[in-house]
Amino acid sequence: MNRGAIAEIDLNAISDNLKVIKKLSNNRPVIAVVKADAYGHGAIDVSRRLVNDGVEYLAVAFTEEARELRNAGINSPILVLFDPDINDIFTYNLIPVIRDKKTAIALSKEAEKNNRSISVHIKIDTGMGRLGFTGDAANEISEIANLKGITIDGVMSHFSEADLLDASFARMQIERFNSIKTELLNIGLSVRLFHMANSAAVMTLPESHFDAVRPGIMLYGYPPIQKSEVRSQKLGVNDPKSQLLPAMTVKTKILALRRLPAGIPISYGRTFITKRASLIGVIPIGYADGFSRRFSNNAELLVRCKRVPVVGRVCMDLTMIDLTDVEQVEEGDDVVIIGRQGNESIDAAELAFRADTIPYEILTSLGNMANRVYNN
Ligand SMILES: *Cc1c(COP(=O)(O)O)cnc(C)c1O
Repeated sequence: MNRGAIAEIDLNAISDNLKVIKKLSNNRPVIAVVKADAYGHGAIDVSRRLVNDGVEYLAVAFTEEARELRNAGINSPILVLFDPDINDIFTYNLIPVIRDKKTAIALSKEAEKNNRSISVHIKIDTGMGRLGFTGDAANEISEIANLKGITIDGVMSHFSEADLLDASFARMQIERFNSIKTELLNIGLSVRLFHMANSAAVMTLPESHFDAVRPGIMLYGYPPIQKSEVRSQKLGVNDPKSQLLPAMTVKTKILALRRLPAGIPISYGRTFITKRASLIGVIPIGYADGFSRRFSNNAELLVRCKRVPVVGRVCMDLTMIDLTDVEQVEEGDDVVIIGRQGNESIDAAELAFRADTIPYEILTSLGNMANRVYNN
């Protein structure tokens, strides 16, 4: 058998989520973020669908990811957020995000050598503290604009808060971005696309939408707001954010069933001891498959439409669940890790909350280790 879980990816959900984004952003161009294998959903299939749905740009983190898309026959513009590998940029016709002058000069030289012109986007650090120009950004940008063979097609920045529960710092970032935009206009530099909005900003800060939006997590069906109790307070039923559909279902099957008496310790460290005669299921997924060890005695899964607890420590390849209260369970039965069964559902936000992390990490860990299937 194959190890681990199966991730079923619902591409129609991704299409629907894109519609929500289009609506919230008044139909602005969308730069769809498909880094980290589309947040665990599979960048090739997801990108094909998004391009088919009319997304204007794809964005990846590293050129390796862009190469994979090009080799799969995807021809749309691809923005490379973090990696200006010059060879790849020219060979695969990619749009680099520039964050220093030396890369701009190197690109310009290569463009001249090949008698070509290259479009770039410029990154400004307005408060993320990661990459981008700080200080007199407008001046540096105008110097780059004067380099031969370089066309500045976009200027971008990134918010330091992914959930924007408190938007005051984000507003300051928008102000900084706006003042650089004004300076550039004043010196007569025309840039086609200013963009800044991640998913949270698409949802909550219309003044950050500028000329294009750049969402990731929303496409996959999750609002970036992290604390589940805050989330339910913040989102009313008519809120478009609550229309997002999680695109990933993660499942496995029961590998073995064991009837055990009371008093039997389960798994490493004996952190769980049966309190009654128990039916324990063993499932073929562990932390090596992206099912975090933090779920030891600390997660529920679905079997036969019921929530069942993880008992004992999650192992490398196996995890135990308590099936005592489930009727007629059999080896080979489906186990839902993320998804729906009957009236019950478990999403990545619930698992994230339990593991003290964010849905992004749950989706990339489980999705990128699973065998993926696409259900349409
Ligand atoms: C990952 C990323 C995004 C998307 O962020 P979400 O919170 O998933 O919407 C946008 N821009 C940059 C630069 C990123 O790194």
